[in-house]
Amino acid sequence: MPRERLYLFDTTLRDGAQTNGVDFTLADKLAIARMLDELGIDYVEGGYPGANPIDTDFFAQKRPMRAKFTAFGMTRRPGRSASNDPGLVALLDAQADAICFVAKSWDYHVRVALETTEEENLASIRDSVRAAKAKGREVLLDCEHFFDGYKAKPAYALACAQAAYDEGARWVVLCDTNGGTLPHEVERIVGEVCQKIPGDHVGIHAHNDTEQAVANSFAAVRAGARQIQGTLNGLGERCGNANLVSIIPTLKLKKEYAEAFDIGVSDEALARLARVAHSLDELLNRSPDRHAPYVGESAFATKAGIHASAIVKEPATYEHVAPERVGNKRKLLVSDQAGRSNVLAELDRIGLKIDRNDARVTRLLDEVKEREAIGYAYEAADASFELLARRSLGQVPHYFAVEKFDVNVEKRTNAKGEPVTVSQAVVKIKVGDEELISVAEGIGPVNALDLALRKDLGKYQSFITGLTLTDYRVRILNGGTQAVTRVLIESSDETGDRWTTVGVSANIIDASFQALMDSIVYKLVKSGAPA
Ligand SMILES: [Zn+2]
Repeated sequence: MPRERLYLFDTTLRDGAQTNGVDFTLADKLAIARMLDELGIDYVEGGYPGANPIDTDFFAQKRPMRAKFTAFGMTRRPGRSASNDPGLVALLDAQADAICFVAKSWDYHVRVALETTEEENLASIRDSVRAAKAKGREVLLDCEHFFDGYKAKPAYALACAQAAYDEGARWVVLCDTNGGTLPHEVERIVGEVCQKIPGDHVGIHAHNDTEQAVANSFAAVRAGARQIQGTLNGLGERCGNANLVSIIPTLKLKKEYAEAFDIGVSDEALARLARVAHSLDELLNRSPDRHAPYVGESAFATKAGIHASAIVKEPATYEHVAPERVGNKRKLLVSDQAGRSNVLAELDRIGLKIDRNDARVTRLLDEVKEREAIGYAYEAADASFELLARRSLGQVPHYFAVEKFDVNVEKRTNAKGEPVTVSQAVVKIKVGDEELISVAEGIGPVNALDLALRKDLGKYQSFITGLTLTDYRVRILNGGTQAVTRVLIESSDETGDRWTTVGVSANIIDASFQALMDSIVYKLVKSGAPA
């Protein structure tokens, strides 16, 4: 049976830009648009030309891409002609391949928010679609609050969609703007719409307010819709939009969808999906969600020993899809709950060949257990585990030694008489016969120590230039006077790899120092720095 084409529409740059704390610059928008285009998204919605300077700039020139570059805006205002509405004129002049209009489709909103008649709203939809078609644009209509509108007055909600379709809109997109509709309702309503408007002209735009935006998108597809709108990592206002990073692999890897549909995302692009998701987080300066389906660090992580031994034999026993398909990797957590098989499997993943009965494996397992008993957490710190394992096999060179460090924090008043806190670190290291002293100021003591440590590693400096710290987490264990601090540091480098290291001490600076040292040494090993 030939597969049907299913289209993906990304609105990260428009609806996703509504996310609390997200502010895209023009450079961010260009970078994200390129990422989406390379991924194989069919429509990239860039924003709302005329609404703010960045979006206006973004649409001021042609942005050549394989995807259809789409501008978003409102249909003409009630009581005006299309040519006499400056907002609509700006939208029609935008350098875009397609225009996505948003229009009311809930009679309640037409009356209360728009303060106009139902007929005038329909006329506005028809006029706007016609004007955009006359400009040679492909046209989409987002029917705002469609599902609530349909429940209140089905004939009117449908009439809005029908008006756009009859006037030649390529797509009529049914929006669950409040995000409160449930999958069985979406399936029923979209099914009814598809009896009037062919499904290959119907799209779904779901919000995640009941944690079902992805499920709602699939419910719409099951009922006949052939366009899915969503965002990368589910960005979006309130609880977000449908997450394309979860939708894409499901479409590609789950039999029911893979056999029925073709999408613009190739297998090669799918294998870069985890990288795409993490690049967006990097751009937003956020830590990736470890538990994100398909692409999260924990998505293919297994803890218990008995599962681990089965996974090594036959990965499909505990994995619903192969992690490599989406650019992720299997991770077996080494922890005191797990046994020898986890340690062996992890050694195998790292690429350390060792006989399973080798005494060094037993020693390593004992060491992991002892260290975890005092607070180390190796299942969260893959790089520290790898160093421990490599050290037990004598595979970590002695690159350098820190002979001494000194960190101080000073609170004083500055020249303007304002209170300021200043941190400074001095580090003395020895690389071979060379002694190096570095001094750095930081926004806090750990930052100062990190900057001083990485300032001058002598002959190793060039190996760590791409190293950056991306996350720092502190946890106080067994509180009170016996408190121990655990620090986890996540680092990344120029290749996009990320790793986590751990340090434990009664002193937070010392715990941070251990984790920082592990991160640097791990990077040196990874880069193949000579001893
Ligand atoms: Zn929306």
